[in-house]
Amino acid sequence: MAFDAVIVGAGHNALAAAIHLASRGWSVGIFEQSERAGGAVRTEEVTLPGFRHDLGAMNLSLFAGSPFMAEHGEALMANGLAFAPAEHCFASPMPDGKWFGISKDLETTVTRAARFSEADAETWRAMVTAFAEDAPHLFALLGSPMTKRALAKVVWSAWRAKGAGWIVDTLRLFLSSPRDFLERRFESPEIRAALAAWGMHLDFSPDIAGGALFPYLEGMANQSFGMVIGQGGADTIVTAMVSRLEALGGKVHVNAEVAEIVRSDGRATGVRLASGESIDAKRAVVAGVTPPALVGKLLPGGSGDAGFDRGAQKFRFGPGTMMVHLALSDLPDWSAGEELKRFAYVHLAPDLDMMARVYAEAIAGLLPAEPVLVAGQPTVIDPSRAPDGKHVLWVQVRVLPAAIHGDAAGRIKTSNWDAAKEAYADRAIDIIERYAPGAKAKILARHVESPLDLERRNPNLVGGDQIAGSHHLAQNFLFRPMPGWARYATPVKDLYLIGASTWPGAGTGAGSGTMLAKMLAGGGAKT
Ligand SMILES: Cc1cc2nc3c(=O)[nH]c(=O)nc-3n(C[C@H](O)[C@H](O)[C@H](O)COP(=O)(O)OP(=O)(O)OC[C@H]3O[C@@H](n4cnc5c(N)ncnc54)[C@H](O)[C@@H]3O)c2cc1C
Repeated sequence: MAFDAVIVGAGHNALAAAIHLASRGWSVGIFEQSERAGGAVRTEEVTLPGFRHDLGAMNLSLFAGSPFMAEHGEALMANGLAFAPAEHCFASPMPDGKWFGISKDLETTVTRAARFSEADAETWRAMVTAFAEDAPHLFALLGSPMTKRALAKVVWSAWRAKGAGWIVDTLRLFLSSPRDFLERRFESPEIRAALAAWGMHLDFSPDIAGGALFPYLEGMANQSFGMVIGQGGADTIVTAMVSRLEALGGKVHVNAEVAEIVRSDGRATGVRLASGESIDAKRAVVAGVTPPALVGKLLPGGSGDAGFDRGAQKFRFGPGTMMVHLALSDLPDWSAGEELKRFAYVHLAPDLDMMARVYAEAIAGLLPAEPVLVAGQPTVIDPSRAPDGKHVLWVQVRVLPAAIHGDAAGRIKTSNWDAAKEAYADRAIDIIERYAPGAKAKILARHVESPLDLERRNPNLVGGDQIAGSHHLAQNFLFRPMPGWARYATPVKDLYLIGASTWPGAGTGAGSGTMLAKMLAGGGAKT
């Protein structure tokens, strides 16, 4: 078999790259080790028949707002892509029964904020107004290739439009920790906590520099645009992308682990599958894997550049995630208020100190005494994912050690994830029960995936790191995946690296796949 481009792994970035290349006339073959495409975007009935659970991403806002969607969205819709929009995006109940949340209607959010602080309510309104003007410049930066020239262009254009003061303020935002930023802006601890929880979706506990951006952007974007999930499951993007790729003549080959990238005269010329079969690449090999897997596994003997290999081997992963999927007879009765049943995400992360403690425990190898939980309620937005009147709960347990050295609560004695996971899931469910008494009695079935299970299914999630590599400042922007290699090239000619480990990082925005494909084949789809 031979293709213009051979792509390793069928994550959504790989699919985006393949579609763009195929739309420009390239022949493309994707080789995926698992039995289906999608990687960290996957939906399955893992509890009971008729209950569809997103095993990875649930929130598809990044995909819906991506440049890839802008260019290829119409064709994807024709191939079955459908979103379900959420008006009520995220909320945090507090142990004392209060809660704060962001709904798409600005006045609703402002009124809620005013219950805590009139000043914070006005700050929120002013931030949202400013965001409408700032967003094009921020998204231009976050969607820009990481070259000095491209960055200079984006910054220069923002400078001309907004002035030097705005650039300095924005730089300060980018460098701030969530706590710096939130304490400067808001006086209410509840509002600060509701926003800081977004840092914990990545590896930004409240005191880590560079983490302010995520609470800020998620707060502003959810307020301004709402949230979207997939109709029927997050895998709507995968099935639509696979169909679109097939319509363009490409194909995803599943159960086809790539064991080695084949080189000739310093150039990548194809891949060898674990089955022994060889596939030729006429123009490019695109690897959607992590840097250590590229260098340590797919390039025996290394890339030929000692600096690149050292950087790849030292690539840092963030702490792990456990997923608890629940089939429920009804939604939890959140004691903070009936209204919480309408939200896409309920964060159980009531204060900044608690989040900082959880992170410190996980980094020290301890099972946190009380982890942060993200309780996703997709069936509130899309009832088709469960039988009539029933629900699924998508519970993300953040953040956890890849290797267990102890339990901060002193109760779980094993250091083996397979042995610990059900007991730790009980701890997570006990937390939900505290915020929503009676929730346990509504559980019809559960399915638990430890950090180890996440990695077993998708080797890119090393140690269960759902973001495939820390996003701390020293490994982001120009430094992702490592300094000097932010533009997908590798020391091997015609070999490229994409995926969540590369700029612009994790999430369903299809950024690296789209940017690389445009570099290789030019922008603008030709269909
Ligand atoms: C539990 C969880 C929840 C998340 N929630 C959200 C969310 O709500 N919203 C959001 O935007 N993002 C979320 N994310 C992050 C987001 O899903 C990922 O960052 C994104 O999907 C990564 O896409 P990717 O294209 O980089 O590759 P991946 O999806 O990681 O796919 C890589 C693929 O490569 C394959 N592969 C690896 N090595 C080989 C090999 N040698 N041969 C063949 N195939 C190989 C793997 O099997 C896999 O299918 C979540 C992630 C997880 C795990």
